[in-house]
Amino acid sequence: MLQTDEHTDPLGVVAAHGRLLQHHHWLNDRANAAVVNPDDPAKAKSPLKLAPTAAGTLTAPKKQSERTLALLVNQRMRSQLLAVPEGGESPYYERPLDNEDRRRIESASGQLAHEFMGMAPRQARVGCSPPAVMGPGFRLCLQFRLGLRLSTNKAGGRTCAGCGRPGDPHGHHSIGCHGTSARLLRHNAPLQVLMAMAKNAGHQTMVPGRGQCKGQHYATLNDPPEGMAKTWTPDALVLDCPQPGRTAVCDITVWHANQPSNRVDGPRRAVPLETANHAEKGKRDHVAAFVAALDAQGTPADPAEVFFPLAVETYGAPSETTLRMFKWLIDMWKEAKQATPSQVAYYRHQWKFRFSVAVQRHNAQMLMDGAAAADDAE
Ligand SMILES: [Zn+2]
Repeated sequence: MLQTDEHTDPLGVVAAHGRLLQHHHWLNDRANAAVVNPDDPAKAKSPLKLAPTAAGTLTAPKKQSERTLALLVNQRMRSQLLAVPEGGESPYYERPLDNEDRRRIESASGQLAHEFMGMAPRQARVGCSPPAVMGPGFRLCLQFRLGLRLSTNKAGGRTCAGCGRPGDPHGHHSIGCHGTSARLLRHNAPLQVLMAMAKNAGHQTMVPGRGQCKGQHYATLNDPPEGMAKTWTPDALVLDCPQPGRTAVCDITVWHANQPSNRVDGPRRAVPLETANHAEKGKRDHVAAFVAALDAQGTPADPAEVFFPLAVETYGAPSETTLRMFKWLIDMWKEAKQATPSQVAYYRHQWKFRFSVAVQRHNAQMLMDGAAAADDAE
């Protein structure tokens, strides 16, 4: 059925696929079809249908056949990894994955979440020395990303250096702890990246409370509704964004997808970007209510302003709005500089990397802050 002659399969893609078919016990994921496409399980492709797809990529000159096959295999792997077993144990792993694993895998495989790992090869490509996550912190970030026990967790009953609460071996407390200054730095870092991109694209940016933008951005509420503070100040403004004459009002949040309060009983399917989009919605609702209250007291906000709730999950994945803004800023730079497609590709690589590192280098610090007490306790 499959041609493996070297002339028709120069990259060995069809042959590789043939080998995969021999081990189709894990590729043949009819049982996981509901995970791949829960709305229409019949639409999930069987591996036998994928073989002609792989062969077909060889005859289409513009398709990257290896990449296509890699994506197909990746999709199978993900569906196996993220499947929710019904009653029985997973035949593929030593232990069935739990909800925490599924949320971690989903979040860590989000867009912009893995770029920090590619720093060495990228350094030559982007033509400048990029910021880096240093060795010990890099190791902690990888361990955290893989759901492993952190190597710094030497003491059994360690406590968090930031707040004195009990820590945990996988870093879920440390990564979200409110008692460490690294948390504020991590909040600022991805925002600074986006603001630097906005400046590169020729936009003026402002931080309310500083420089040209003294004081709070919005008027004070005289009689705030119950549960609402009198004032609210966004993190940054970008002028003439997303269109000329408009202003992007930006506020960023970094949330942990596996914070202890997220634990639920019973195996659940992981929802992509659930945490980031939840944070985004919460912020959007809060600001809408605040602006409505301003309106009611007769000091309405500027109608040319557009609110951008920017959220990022600690594993590195940005929310939909954050990703949209990232892509806009690349497009705006392209327009402003009349850049060629190749220049845009380099530019995109550079800022994907910087965005990813911006989150992870402070993650590293938070994971290390949590470990200090473990050493003391020994
Ligand atoms: Zn703590």
